[in-house]
Amino acid sequence: MWRRVPTGAVLLGLLAGNASAVEPTLSEKLRLLADAYPDAIERIDVNALVLGDGGPPIVIDDGKAKTHAEKLAKADVEDSLSQIYPPGACAGSPAVDFDPGRIRSEALLKRLYGGSAAAVRRDLVSVDWFGERLRVTKRHGAARALKAVAADLSARPELRPYLSPSAGTFNWRPIAGASTLSVHSFGAAIDLNTRFADYWRWAGKGGTRYRNRYPLEIVEIFEKHGFIWGGRWYHFDTMHFEYRPEMIAIARAAGADATVQRGGIKAQEAPVKGANHGSHRRGKTLSQRR
Ligand SMILES: [Zn+2]
Repeated sequence: MWRRVPTGAVLLGLLAGNASAVEPTLSEKLRLLADAYPDAIERIDVNALVLGDGGPPIVIDDGKAKTHAEKLAKADVEDSLSQIYPPGACAGSPAVDFDPGRIRSEALLKRLYGGSAAAVRRDLVSVDWFGERLRVTKRHGAARALKAVAADLSARPELRPYLSPSAGTFNWRPIAGASTLSVHSFGAAIDLNTRFADYWRWAGKGGTRYRNRYPLEIVEIFEKHGFIWGGRWYHFDTMHFEYRPEMIAIARAAGADATVQRGGIKAQEAPVKGANHGSHRRGKTLSQRR
């Protein structure tokens, strides 16, 4: 059995996605994955996930050594769990190729939510998002979780400008510049108001310059309900949240925490309560120091 994370130093390894003594084992991660989708994943076999839909088992580890780009393009289940997502009210400039949750098993997502636009559409339901009706999958509690996010956020009217209008939920499409499907294809992702969005592809030639303009209270509320935030990625997409309860469960089990120092740079501190915090400015300062 793995142990709880004892020190920040050890956690650095976890945050960087490196194997360490305290990182949950693959079998522990798989158990948490299965627990996150109890209606779908029947059991974990030798190197295969067996789903209750009668379809073929999904290979866990294809045994291929991959670069980060190859993992993003054709991840197996093991690859998808290889980087641990760090939750918490903190957003620093992510380390190179640290993209926890952006590595996804498309085979698994298709089996969880539907293998075609028509199949996904059958399970979409309406979720009220501050007066808008968003279409979200009801599978695996995704719509219920987004409703819970909206209920928590509705108690914070000063956050409303960041949340609404939403830039979209369900949309069967590949990720821009890639052939892999976005989680929007499965109706399990939401984009917030684009007015405050920053995206790695917009960040200029020759590399990513990180910044975030969304209050981190929003991020904490989404994480509480099983969503991960695209603002934690090296290939950042700050308006993007997707329902990945297995990533949150693994993070909690590992004791991963975004508020811990990493890379020798103090990560961005939690903003003062309220909407007009200075995360933009702080994010920029961090970028310049890298
Ligand atoms: Zn998105």
